Amino acid sequence: DPALYIVSTPIGNLRDITVRALETLACADVIACEDTRVTGILTQRYGLKAKLLPYHEHNADKQRPKLLSVLEDGGSIALVSDAGTPLISDPGYRLVRDVVAEGHKVIPIPGASALLAGLVGAGLPSDTIVFAGFLAQKDGQKRTRLKSLVETQGTLVFYESPRRLGATLAVMVEELGADREAAVARELTKRFETFERGTLGDLAELFSGDAPKGEIVILVGPPGEKPAASQDDIDSLLREALVDMPVS
Ligand code: SAM
Repeated sequence: DPALYIVSTPIGNLRDITVRALETLACADVIACEDTRVTGILTQRYGLKAKLLPYHEHNADKQRPKLLSVLEDGGSIALVSDAGTPLISDPGYRLVRDVVAEGHKVIPIPGASALLAGLVGAGLPSDTIVFAGFLAQKDGQKRTRLKSLVETQGTLVFYESPRRLGATLAVMVEELGADREAAVARELTKRFETFERGTLGDLAELFSGDAPKGEIVILVGPPGEKPAASQDDIDSLLREALVDMPVS
């Protein structure tokens, strides 16, 4: 059927692909992918023969009409990214929007994503989460974004490059507080998968040296309860209020 299939692929371990994803890739007329070499590894491994069409940040505007015309002609497209789930810090959102606007079907084929793999292994509250993707590289913009998230009552999830991990954790300590529970998930589903768990302060210390190797997800737990006001606080607030009180 003519449809755009959003197909999740592995984030490391090549066996992390669903039966349905393989069937969908095998049947698609076109596989739109970020990098034909990266997706080529997958299609080779599973003996898939579909036509690979590059669709990435830099050619997306040019490629979108081509992909829409495939659907127009009754063909089906599978969208994949280099790793994990398309649209999650990866291209695809505008394509989905345009395909919907043209009245075609969009069918997600769910699977691996570093966001969920990191979350479920972190040991942090998972009832409310905010996926914040990559922070800006500039210090000022990074801080502004973190400030906007200080009060968020949920676990924050970030993607970060290993080169910037140490600096980002240090800024998080300043903007979110050293005491927050947090985790750094590294190399998920791969041979050297590790979770480091502790306070933001602990983790900033741990990663203050040389940049670690591999791919990284940072998770920060929700802010703790504000400490209840002490009797002294209440007394001084009452005294201040009395000073301003009109005497009638
Ligand atoms: N679409 C992907 C997904 O669903 O997870 C994410 C793509 S984004 C361009 C790449 C970032 O995802 C990496 O810089 C890293 O932060 C995170 N990531 C991807 N694979 C990972 C892995 N195996 N372990 C830890 N983080 C990973």
